[in-house]
This record gives sequence, C-alpha cells and structure tokens, in this order.
Amino acid sequence: MIQMAKKQFKAESKRLLDLMIHSIYTNKEIFLRELISNASDAIDKSYYLSLVDKNISFNKDDFYIRIAADKENRTLTLTDTGIGMTKEELESNLGTIARSGSLQFKNENEAKDGVDIIGQFGVGFYSAFMVSELVTVKSRAMNSVEAFVWQSKGVEGYTIEPCEKETVGTEIILKIKENTEDENYDAYLEEYRLRALVKKYSDFIKYPIRMLVKKSKLKEGSEKEYEEYYEDEILNSMVPIWRRNKSELKPEDYENFYMDKHFGFDKPLKSIHASVDGVASYNTILYIPAKAPYDFYTKEFEKGLELYSNGVLIMEKCADLLPDYFSFVQGLVDSADLSLNISRELLQHDRQLKIIAKKIKERIKSELLTMLQSEREKYDEFYKSFGRQLKYGVYSDWGSNKDVLQDLLMFYSSSEKKLVSLDEYVARMKEDQKYIYYATGESIERIEKLPQTELIKDKGFEILYFTDDVDEFAIKMLMNYKEKEFKSASSSDLGFESDVKEADKQTEENKELFDFMKEALQGKIKEVKASNRLKSHPVCLSSEGELSIEMEKVLNMMPNNPSVKADKILEINTGHEMFSAIKQAFAADKDKVKVYANILYNQALLIEGLPVEDPVQFANDVCTLMK
Ligand code: ADP
Repeated sequence: MIQMAKKQFKAESKRLLDLMIHSIYTNKEIFLRELISNASDAIDKSYYLSLVDKNISFNKDDFYIRIAADKENRTLTLTDTGIGMTKEELESNLGTIARSGSLQFKNENEAKDGVDIIGQFGVGFYSAFMVSELVTVKSRAMNSVEAFVWQSKGVEGYTIEPCEKETVGTEIILKIKENTEDENYDAYLEEYRLRALVKKYSDFIKYPIRMLVKKSKLKEGSEKEYEEYYEDEILNSMVPIWRRNKSELKPEDYENFYMDKHFGFDKPLKSIHASVDGVASYNTILYIPAKAPYDFYTKEFEKGLELYSNGVLIMEKCADLLPDYFSFVQGLVDSADLSLNISRELLQHDRQLKIIAKKIKERIKSELLTMLQSEREKYDEFYKSFGRQLKYGVYSDWGSNKDVLQDLLMFYSSSEKKLVSLDEYVARMKEDQKYIYYATGESIERIEKLPQTELIKDKGFEILYFTDDVDEFAIKMLMNYKEKEFKSASSSDLGFESDVKEADKQTEENKELFDFMKEALQGKIKEVKASNRLKSHPVCLSSEGELSIEMEKVLNMMPNNPSVKADKILEINTGHEMFSAIKQAFAADKDKVKVYANILYNQALLIEGLPVEDPVQFANDVCTLMK
C-alpha cells in the first residue's frame, strides 16, 4: 500500500490542537456536544437542500445522528446523514481552524485562557482530540459518488485518501485514549455516560440522536433465563420546553424543568416563559427562586443564564445576560441570532446579546413589580431572600441602576408594622410632611425605642426602619423618591420649623453652658445644643453632614477601612428636669457639669448602640453623683 504523504496543519490550528491534546481541562466531555452540533449543522444543510431541490426526495427519517460505542476496539463512532464533505472541504475545514478570527488566542502563555475557551464554548471539531488518540473522518459529500477519509493523531499532521462509503454524510471514528491516573476515558464508551451526556448538552437538538441500546428480556418459554437484544433508541427529546406553546404547558411542567435542571431545590416563586421576536429573537424561561442558595451572598456564587444557540447549549452560565442585582434569577435563553462558536470576549460585545439582556432585565423588573402590587405575600417571601441584593444594586455602580430598582424596595413601617414600598409611603404622606423619614438601628425593637423618633411619631408621620447595613447607603444613593427627600430621624434638622426656632432660642440662651459642656467632652462632639425633637427623653445624638452615625458604625466594622467619624451633635432636652440640675451645677460647681456632660454623652452612645469609650470612667462618674 502506498503511504500517503502527511500534510501539516496550519500554524494556528496546530496551537489549538496542541492545547486540546494537552488539555488539563476537566470538562473533556464537551467534545460530544461539539461533534453532535457539527453533525446537526450538516444535517440542517442537507435538510434545507431537500426542501428547496425538487430532485431530492427525502423522508423525515433520513435525518439523524447515530452514536455507537465499541468497547473492545475502544472506538466511539458518530454518524450523520448531513451534507458531507468533499476532499477539498476535508482539507480546508479540518486542516485549518475554521474560525481563526473568533478564537483569540493571545499567546501560548495564556493557557488558562485557552482552558476557559474550551470550557465555555468548546472549540469544535478539534475537541475530539481531548479524548482520542486517533481521529478518523470518513465523508461523502452530497451529489458525489466519491468518499474520502481524513485521519490524524494530532499535531504531526493528517492524511487524506479515498475510501468506500455507501451513503452521503459523515462518519467520525474516535479511538478513545487509554485511561490515565487522573482521567477515566473508558467512560466515553459506556452507554449510560453517553446517554447522560446527550441529555445534558444535546437534548434539544432537532434531529434524533440514535443509539443501539442493549436490553434484556425473558427468553421465550423460560421464567428465569434472560436474553439480550438491541433496540434502537432516540436519546434526545428534540423539542425543548421553551419552544413549546405556553398554552400546552402546566405550572408543573415548569417546576419539573426547574428541578431537572438543578436550578434550585424548592419550588420557584415564579416562572416566566417568553418568546420574543424583533431586533433580537429569542425564547426564554426565567425563574425567580423562593430561597437564596446557601452561597448566594458569598463570592463563590456565580450568576448567569444558560445560553443556547438554536437549541444547542453554548454556555452554562452566561453572566452577561443578568445584571448583578438580579443575579438570583435562573433560567435560559435560546436565540438563533447567536453564533454557536463565539469566544467569551466577543460574546460580551455582541449586540444581539446586549439587546436580549436589556429585555430580560426589563421583564424581570416588571414581573417583580406586578408581584409586589398584586401578590404581596409572594413578594414578601421573595424580598426576605433577595431584598438585600436589590438594595446593594441601588448602592453599587454609583447608583446608576436606581431607576430600575427603587420601585422594588421595601422597608418596615412604623405605622403599618410591616414592609411597605416607597410608593405606598409617599401616597400616605401628610399634607404638611416634607420628608420621607427613616431611622436606623440593629432591630425593629431597638429603633422603636430611639428617642430621635419621638417627635416625628408625635406629629403622626410614618417612619421607615432601616435594619440592614446597606439600607442607609442605598437611600443616600437615591437621595429622593418621587421628588420627596429622605430624612434621617438622627439628622440635625428634621424640618419642623417652629420646633427649630424654639430650640435655637434655647441654644442661644444657654450658649455658655453648652460651650462649657462641649469643652468638657474634648472633641468627641461637634456641638451641644438644645434639641428640637426630644419630648420625654433627656438626651440623644444627631449628626450633621453626609455621614450618619449608623454609617460610621458600618464603615468602621469593615476590614481595612480607615476609621471614619460622623459629625456628632449632643442634643439636650431643655424641657427635662435634669436640665435644671445642670443649670444649677453650672452656677455652683463647674466640675460637676463636666461629670454630667460625660454621663449624658455616654448615655447617648448607649442609646445609639455604640460602645461607651471608657466604661470604668463612666461607672465612676455615676457613682460620684450618687455620693
Ligand atoms: P465550526 O463548526 O465552528 O465551523 P469545526 O472545527 O467544528 O468548526 O468544524 C469545521 C468545519 O468542518 C465546519 O464548519 C463544517 O464545515 C465542517 N464539518 C465539521 N463536522 C462536519 C460534519 N459532521 N459534516 C459536515 N461538515 C462538517
């Protein structure tokens, strides 16, 4: 037999091949998906020709893909009834990497990037080399009587020679590698594994993927003797749920699919199914889970939707389809407008994908808003799991997403005793109420007792209680809602003008005393003044400027954060009995006033949930007064 001359691969194909052969990538199994989707594409082409060319008579059963494993010979064979390849096509398609433009191998040093590309998209035909020591491709092109066989063991090159093939189409024979210490290649010859791989990656390929499956049955006439036989089975379901008609589907169908896909373990709160036509056409199924997965609020959590191109899975978690603030959404998108082989970098810039992502974002928002308005119990459950994520969303990216998210926020209300939306708050605002009031604290119970809220409640105004660290930061980002400004119960000016006038008068009258107290507190506070908000409580802290006392607390708890200080004001209730005691002391015994000032300051800290700076001194001060 004449030895055919070996041909060399093009340089970049060689690099890719090398990467495939030496890939340490754990997900080698995707080679099957790649070969099946190539076969499906090839059948698409012959199917199309059969539709447009009257000379070609065809039967629906003519189009299929077959998988056959031969354990003895360690071969896995994929046969398709597609359009096939001529000698020249074998040469140019398999000798050169077909889409050199879309695969951007920066350089060999970035092998990790390469691994990523394999993981996310596969790299087509060459992925066969991840599991095979020899790849043989027999092909006969449509309208041709000749057939050719292409063969390669890898980087050294490939051969092409004529061969016999009775039918049009392509047959790919993989000689599966021997097992190694860390890789069980035998698995790719096991029926159950092949079946599982088809289910996982190619379930929705339009054409049947057939395999002869070994079965056994009782021998005729016998009650315990079994005989084996083969049955031709179709491994894939062919019609994906998202392409089915919504009217044919029941809620259970969506729930089952959610479970099958391992999107989550509890029933989802909501399933959204949409078929969109337009600039970008796509089908989507989205789920809003009921509970956050255990790792949701950690760095390990990976957001993303499954991405299909015409029924073929191209990415398990496409992060670009979901904004971070909706990262809890699960589901998939299938679009014929996306290319199957596209690198992650290119995908990020894909115009179609951007349009789809935008539409999906809008849809999620409107579904959540509808839930808030008409299925409040469900929304409460949702908000318990993911409300924090929405608030982070408002705060992050310099507030650029606040318009999408502000209507979805809820906070506990002092008057309603439950979570309310900002819209509901604003609708209830009193005529003379200028601001949306809020108070921050560790828990609802603690906020209930805050002296700072006294006067606001007294006026009959509702207060929103902020118990999450992120709450006040998010609100600072919003600044206002429906033109109503937010106001902290601890801010120095609550906007009650008559009360302010009275307090200012008191502050002026007691200026000397207050300055003395400020001095005694040695720079811990910016000012001592008469309070305009206290009724029964003697003292409280308030703050001036952007940084509140709560924010100071949160920021100082963060690791590596330089310590920050809010501008604190010690507010004294001049109508309180203790104030006359201070005034008396100021006339008679100034040292006593120093002690008073320190005690009041520390009390205010305690009320605020802040640590007393010097507890021993505080205890001694109290005892001094008891003497
Ligand atoms: P891609 O599918 O992204 O183009 P591949 O490396 O997987 O890249 O395949 C290269 C080309 O080889 C394909 O574009 C196609 O023209 C051809 N090809 C691969 N597999 C088949 C097949 N089973 N039948 C016909 N042509 C095929």
